[in-house]
Amino acid sequence: MTARPGARDVSGFEAVRAAWRWDEVTRRIEATRPADVDRAIARSGRRSPDDFLALVSPAAAAFLEPMAVEAAAQTRRRFGHAMQLYAPIYLSNECNNVCTYCGFSREIPIARTTLDGEAIEIEADALAALGFDHVLVVTGEAPERVDVPYLARAIDRLRPRFSQIGVEVQPLDEDGYAALLDHGLSSVTVYQETYHRETYREHHPKGPKASFDYRLGTPERASRAGVSRIGLGCLLGLEAFRTDAAFVALHLDWLERACWRSRYSISFPRLRPHAGERPPKVEVSDRDLLQLVLAFRIFDPEVELVLSTRESPRFRDHVCTLGITTMSAGSRTNPGGYSGGQRASLEQFSIHDERTPAQVAAMLDRRGLQPVFKDWDAAYDRDAARIAST
Ligand code: SF4
Repeated sequence: MTARPGARDVSGFEAVRAAWRWDEVTRRIEATRPADVDRAIARSGRRSPDDFLALVSPAAAAFLEPMAVEAAAQTRRRFGHAMQLYAPIYLSNECNNVCTYCGFSREIPIARTTLDGEAIEIEADALAALGFDHVLVVTGEAPERVDVPYLARAIDRLRPRFSQIGVEVQPLDEDGYAALLDHGLSSVTVYQETYHRETYREHHPKGPKASFDYRLGTPERASRAGVSRIGLGCLLGLEAFRTDAAFVALHLDWLERACWRSRYSISFPRLRPHAGERPPKVEVSDRDLLQLVLAFRIFDPEVELVLSTRESPRFRDHVCTLGITTMSAGSRTNPGGYSGGQRASLEQFSIHDERTPAQVAAMLDRRGLQPVFKDWDAAYDRDAARIAST
């Protein structure tokens, strides 16, 4: 299920990516003037990709306040006060890839494990006891152990406990996604990591993930198979983050037109310490990350924006009212972490927000948001009805 790209696997987005040209996008971002930012913020209706370049530019860093006002208003209009909470469930840290930034990378000497059978249920019970209804299954990429039949069995065991089950696993072909949909799959998350082809090659030297093209076509394959929610993003810190974010926005824009049956979300993973530590090439400050969140919200009022526990409590508390719609809480990033405790040596990356789900929910409540553990769509409907009646 991790075949090399065939004719049908070549991403339709690749022509768009190549035409925009990395260096030219970088030049245009750098050349943005304050008047361009003003125009992008004030524009009514859908912003263009050119507006996005202005919103992520260094020039826009002086406009965070008006951007925050616009982003918060857009978010309340579309999403009300609901904040979806979810947790990742790591089932395997076995991986055939070498990724320079990841604690599960093949060459890192850690104990490897894959949960199966009852071990999945024990872990799921521990997570369900925390109140979660939405889970994201995470694995490395070791298809000899973690293949589509394994993932289907895992979803079967999770389904009695959770109503929304997403996967963040190796890219699959269309048949693979279709098979998982039959078992109750809700969403697929796949980050391109970076849209800069040469930098991608440098950070993914060995293993199936070395194929930039197969990964780039993954959201399209998932959408064609019928997956209704698809998560995108890049790993902030691998490359020039403003340009990488611009390519995420271009990809989102293209997918929303070409693969319009699916809904999309954007995540903002920043490089975090891990067992095989290597510092980021590019520092992304809290202000930079805030600017990206605001830019995506203004660019696309419909898209879900996700913030994980990689980020600090202080940052999450600040940003949660300004555009974010979905947060993880109480996360463990090692297989068996909920039932057996977090073991630092087995983590994929370090958690920064270590608060319990109840503590995160209480924080959201204090900020006037409605933490939602269950039934996202019903929460939207309730909020929409409340807004309509005021
Ligand atoms: S990022 Fe994913 S594919 Fe790469 S080493 Fe880590 S688990 Fe494996």
